[in-house]
Amino acid sequence: MQIHWTKINKIIEEAPEVKTYLLDCPAGFTWEEGSHVHLAFEGFNAGEKPNRSLIRHMSISTLPYEKSIGITTRIKEQCSEFKTILRKLKVGDEVAIFKTHSNVPLRREEKNVYLLSSGVGLATFRPLVLDYFKRADNVNQIHSLNIDSSKEYLFTNIFASAPEKRFTSQFVDNRRDYYLEVENLAADKDGLFYIVGSDEFLMQTINVLYEQGIKPDQIMLDKHEQELPKFLSLDVSI
Ligand SMILES: Cc1cc2nc3c(=O)[nH]c(=O)nc-3n(C[C@H](O)[C@H](O)[C@H](O)COP(=O)(O)OP(=O)(O)OC[C@H]3O[C@@H](n4cnc5c(N)ncnc54)[C@H](O)[C@@H]3O)c2cc1C
Repeated sequence: MQIHWTKINKIIEEAPEVKTYLLDCPAGFTWEEGSHVHLAFEGFNAGEKPNRSLIRHMSISTLPYEKSIGITTRIKEQCSEFKTILRKLKVGDEVAIFKTHSNVPLRREEKNVYLLSSGVGLATFRPLVLDYFKRADNVNQIHSLNIDSSKEYLFTNIFASAPEKRFTSQFVDNRRDYYLEVENLAADKDGLFYIVGSDEFLMQTINVLYEQGIKPDQIMLDKHEQELPKFLSLDVSI
């Protein structure tokens, strides 16, 4: 396993509690849309076993052409040791990244794609949308639905409806509107539904989709293949 130590080159305040950390791209490091990395801090591998409180999975919210690795996260006042350290990091400080993989590449299957996310889950979808804007081949259209109770919606420059690009974006601030809208979107019995958020959010969204007749192979989750049955098995979700 190759560990890349790299520097923070910019910190963007996306919203009061949400920041994007832009990291220098190590030579030869590349990734595809929907990828995540393991992000870790100094000392994480100092002991016999890796110190898990210094490591988190994080989606990459940028694409390689942007020349930086973007990590977008919410840091609340009450937070973990990991986020407490992250909050204190400055431009020029070093972090480690390793084990890059995408569970949610854009499926180019001549279908409509629905991106359902909660809060900073939208960060996972930012590169999918950018990739689609660069090359719309074999994707009918994309619709994004994001729920954020803070109403501080993210990436609104990219997540703005653009009919000429066959892209629509919707933000809601409450669960009732969110689930009603998921029901509406599930009227498309042939669509592909990507979901990113907490495990509870995934389960509830999957239940609504199943009730509307959507099948497991139409659903994409940012989970390792081994974990998928836990979420997508019909016995568990209905
Ligand atoms: C494939 C994958 C991709 C991911 N991508 C992202 C991503 O792009 N961005 C992202 O942010 N996360 C992402 N995650 C989730 C990420 O790995 C973390 O699990 C998540 O950010 C929570 O971080 P944390 O455990 O450090 O807790 P925190 O975010 O610090 O805390 C979680 C909750 O617990 C509360 N809490 C924590 N500590 C305390 C305390 N001491 N007292 C009271 N309340 C407390 C917080 O207020 C918060 O509500 C991803 C996960 C996976 C598996």
